[in-house]
Amino acid sequence: MKRIIFSLTLLSVLFAVTIPALAKTPTGFESTVSTADLREAYTTASIGEKVHILVVPGHEPMYGGAVYQGIYERELTVEIADSLAKLLEQNPRYEVTVARTNDSWNGSLERYFDRNMKSIKKFVDTQKKLMKKLVRKGDVEQRGDEEQVDHAAAPTDVALRLYGINKWANENGVDLVLSLHINDAPDHGENTPSAYAGFAAYVPDPQYGNAAPSRALAESIAARLSTMNATSTLPGESVGVVEDQELIAIGAYGTLHVPSVLLEYGYITEPKFLHTEVRKTVTDDYAYQTYLGVQDFFKDPVTVKYSTRALPRYFTETPGVGSSSPAVYSLQAGLHTLGFYPAATSTFAIATHTPSLARCTISGLMDGCTIDAIKVFQKKHMLEQTGALGPKTRALLNSLIGI
Ligand SMILES: [Zn+2]
Repeated sequence: MKRIIFSLTLLSVLFAVTIPALAKTPTGFESTVSTADLREAYTTASIGEKVHILVVPGHEPMYGGAVYQGIYERELTVEIADSLAKLLEQNPRYEVTVARTNDSWNGSLERYFDRNMKSIKKFVDTQKKLMKKLVRKGDVEQRGDEEQVDHAAAPTDVALRLYGINKWANENGVDLVLSLHINDAPDHGENTPSAYAGFAAYVPDPQYGNAAPSRALAESIAARLSTMNATSTLPGESVGVVEDQELIAIGAYGTLHVPSVLLEYGYITEPKFLHTEVRKTVTDDYAYQTYLGVQDFFKDPVTVKYSTRALPRYFTETPGVGSSSPAVYSLQAGLHTLGFYPAATSTFAIATHTPSLARCTISGLMDGCTIDAIKVFQKKHMLEQTGALGPKTRALLNSLIGI
């Protein structure tokens, strides 16, 4: 399921007040933290003052999120979160909290929800009133539905726990929040994929106090993701970094003082999520690219030759057509790095007149896209165009991306 927001019906009731005709430049909510503040916290991090990162796997333990052919978004997001936490924890400047496992909330959050539901409700009401006031005064411009991507609404208790995470983060010295999701769109059937593919990074509307560093962080992460993944093809998400006023996870109604990015890594119907042989390769790579992006944001980049864990790789076998494996994932990533994948000659590319990483994703699946790209690689290097990763093609590829 897509990003969770507060019920749109309620929103329209709450914001029946129209923006004054004499529009002034909206000043927005007061800024809570700057990009410079956050980078300073990283530079001066010490044992007692680490940069506290909250990683929130999208949705709840055993509840919610997109499902397709027995694949659950809420489990994929836990895998990415755990992999990301492992990478971040290697850096002594970070303290990392993962909000939940597949089965339960993090103990601190669980206790917080149990004991503080009343104060969470009050907090949400106060923020909604504040926003209403700011809108009335013309200090905040309310975005219309036509300006933003539609999101699925969350049931009230789910929404309150999301606001609870924000309040907990505000009160517990969290420095940044990363919410992880896999996207979904209503256009697909039970066994037919969505027309959409690719990633999007959602950031708070610029009028919220946590907006500026959130955007800077999102841009760093998006830059790393885009080396191996298409930007979402859904209209409204095609900008890559998408501003949103209503998503709770990034601070709807100014409820989050902490910089926050909500990542939609891809669409649940994309082939890369559906094959168990490559699932861990895929989730680990998203985590890795996110980690590289976070390091770029803090101006402490990790020096790597490739923005993927799949490379370098030394190929030893000829993958069969229709098979899926980490080796094929590496093969696609390698051919992409060398400029051959997706191939301009691929059937999909011819239909759309552009080679598209959204149509030919790095999926780990030995499909037409991969065969076409191998053929182009072979042609370029005067090898027989078999479309298979035979010994000669392998040897050449190994010499180029094997180290
Ligand atoms: Zn989701």
